[in-house]
Amino acid sequence: MKKVLITLFSIFFISMIACNQGEKTPEYSDILHQRILTIDTHCDTPLRMADTTWDVGARHEPGLRGSGKVDLPRMKEGGLDVEFFAAFVAQRERTPENNQEALEKADKLIRSIKDMCIKYSEKIQLGLSPDDAYEHEKQGLLTAFIGIENGFAIGQDISNIHRYYDMGARYITLCHTKNNDICDSSNDSTEHGGLSDFGAEVVQEMNRIGMIVDVSHISDEAFFDVLETTTAPVIASHSSVRAICDNVRNLSDDMLKALAENGGVIQICIYTEYVKKPKPNPEREQALAALREKYGPWEDVKDPEIKKQYRNEYYDIREKYPVEKATVADVVDHIDHVVELIGIDHVGIGTDFDGGGGVIGCDDVSEMSNITRELVRRGYSDKDIEKIWGGNFMRVFREVRGHKAANL
Ligand SMILES: [Zn+2]
Repeated sequence: MKKVLITLFSIFFISMIACNQGEKTPEYSDILHQRILTIDTHCDTPLRMADTTWDVGARHEPGLRGSGKVDLPRMKEGGLDVEFFAAFVAQRERTPENNQEALEKADKLIRSIKDMCIKYSEKIQLGLSPDDAYEHEKQGLLTAFIGIENGFAIGQDISNIHRYYDMGARYITLCHTKNNDICDSSNDSTEHGGLSDFGAEVVQEMNRIGMIVDVSHISDEAFFDVLETTTAPVIASHSSVRAICDNVRNLSDDMLKALAENGGVIQICIYTEYVKKPKPNPEREQALAALREKYGPWEDVKDPEIKKQYRNEYYDIREKYPVEKATVADVVDHIDHVVELIGIDHVGIGTDFDGGGGVIGCDDVSEMSNITRELVRRGYSDKDIEKIWGGNFMRVFREVRGHKAANL
């Protein structure tokens, strides 16, 4: 009798395991992916939306030239509920004229995001708070949040921060690939030695009005200065892990530990170069350098015809000398590292689509569910995956709003 019971128990136990394993199929992952709120904290798609006749409401075939990485039909396909559309301004010489131009450029990009929300209001709506995104999801709507990439857009006028907040922007990335009046960039030489005095005022003002400080792109010194200055948690909207891919744009383990102490979150960037150290590709580098020499900085080219030519030649070079792309598994290695180092509460995803983001298996927004599949495959619980896909970011978003000065 005992033997029979043991046998029966074994069968029951084994079938339980089999059942559990059976549950975690790709189909299981896809259902989970649809059920949870998914947020990408950075894409540069507004550059397409504002500059060309490109229609964000139409489906573009993935992988084709000019398709871009994000449009509304593909957001639906990829089960991405919330996108932070960045109003990006390239860093130029810091003159009053250029400051003014940067402000106008940011305004134009913000307008393009709002226009999308008006034109396609039955599909996507503007979000101003975390609750908006959850509410929209319930109604089957996508959410567009606005971020500003590069504090150059505020020039030297602190009041512009509130102005952008009133226009709907919810984070500002303090700088881009060059130093500005706020801080040093990770890709530039030392100028302020971190955050400038003006930069400290910027961080304090952002805390005061409840706007998220984004530390992606800033130098290591500036990063630590920001953490000393801010009274609210911060985000790195699109950055990866330096211990895995040694790139100045990525966060070191010391930075990650400090970020955890601050209560902030790193949103892993799926830009190949930040995910996996590329093999040397001198022909490609030379060809790209020659292209830059021929046309000058991309942002300075105004003629649409020349811009088109520039873009085509750029794509030619990319196709002729391709880089070996990182994969979804490589991306999830970065998530694993953060989780092992500082826990599950400080990591999310920020693709940088249309700003260079895209890896094998997640090369555009329609493939976002593959990240969930890989997380499930590696044994992350549903709850953990929900945190990675937006729960962690939303916690920070709420805390930042909670820090808002009482008189606002
Ligand atoms: Zn960027």
